[in-house]
Amino acid sequence: MNSLLKFAGNLIEESKGAVEWEEAQDSFQALLPEDVRYRLGLPESFVTISDGTDVPEEADHHCIGFGTSLLERAISMAIELGPTASMRMPLVSSRKQTEPDPGRHFSFPNATFKLKGNRESWFDYWLWTFVVSAEADERHEEVHQVCVSSSGACCRELPELILDQALDWDRLKVETSEFQESKLNALFMIACDRALRQLDERLSGFKETVKRHHVRDIRRIETYFQNLRQEMEEEIQRRQLEGAALDIREEKMRRLAGEKSAKLLALQDKYRLRLKIRPITLLLARLPVRRFDLLVNRRKKQKRISVLYNLLSKRFDPVPCEACGEDTYTLGFCDDALHILCTSCLAQFKAQKKCFRCRGKRAPSTIKQVLKRLGLQDDGEVS
Ligand SMILES: [Zn+2]
Ligand SMILES: [Zn+2]
Repeated sequence: MNSLLKFAGNLIEESKGAVEWEEAQDSFQALLPEDVRYRLGLPESFVTISDGTDVPEEADHHCIGFGTSLLERAISMAIELGPTASMRMPLVSSRKQTEPDPGRHFSFPNATFKLKGNRESWFDYWLWTFVVSAEADERHEEVHQVCVSSSGACCRELPELILDQALDWDRLKVETSEFQESKLNALFMIACDRALRQLDERLSGFKETVKRHHVRDIRRIETYFQNLRQEMEEEIQRRQLEGAALDIREEKMRRLAGEKSAKLLALQDKYRLRLKIRPITLLLARLPVRRFDLLVNRRKKQKRISVLYNLLSKRFDPVPCEACGEDTYTLGFCDDALHILCTSCLAQFKAQKKCFRCRGKRAPSTIKQVLKRLGLQDDGEVS
């Protein structure tokens, strides 16, 4: 299913419209409340919306895709409506399920642990919806959701599960004062980081195409200049040129070399991948979890940590590495403070005999740091 189409369907349902999907999931019929019809700029309130690969636009049939005014209007509608939504999933008892076992889902390469107990509780998860676009010689745009728990773990199964079910959940009354702005900002940075990283994986096909076009154009330019050069060399040979006539030809060939580098440079710019990421909605989902308290032993030291079993995804949430923020199920620990370290931070710790978190390293906390770590250049397009 097209992610833009799904985004539009969710948006309409969240705004109290009715949506019925076609079996092929490539379009849906919608009955729009008057204000939604107006906001989306549609002439009728009963419409079919499709991803529109080969459908002619009609009064009651509309396509949503990159560059359509329907998408632009849906995005601004989502921005206006989105940021306040918060829901609570109804309680499900985990007692009937087989008891989740942290020891089977987490590994402890340099420590042991004792289970100190577990209890059911609630935990907050933040689901950001981004519109991301990638542009080089072509454009690619998609709607992408990232769910980050309040402890900073990114849970990849949750966006789909939450979006499928949240409409039936009770609205949750929350005061903005319940949440620290700095904490939300930190979680937002994690969401941006994961959105960009997941995008990187999802864009591999797009990047391949761009690369192929780039290589093709480089070859064209090289062949073009090679042919020119060859023609001139042949002329010099054929006409046995010398003196001023030869100097002129040689100067021309030098200029051609300069022209060729300029053209190749311009090509690099044309094929430079530009990413744009726009957050459009934020949903707070309060989900039931089972919290397991563990007492970790590393050499002569001990530390209490908790891991969360999420009753919606029926999985343990990963734990964020305390040095780099990476989500991990492999929990390494440093010697002094028993900081939780992911596989690569643990490897660094072993190789260099020092814990980067103990020396002040933290997960990226500004958009600049996020981009720097991903090797991306900030051109101010991220907001
Ligand atoms: Zn790490
Ligand atoms: Zn440490």
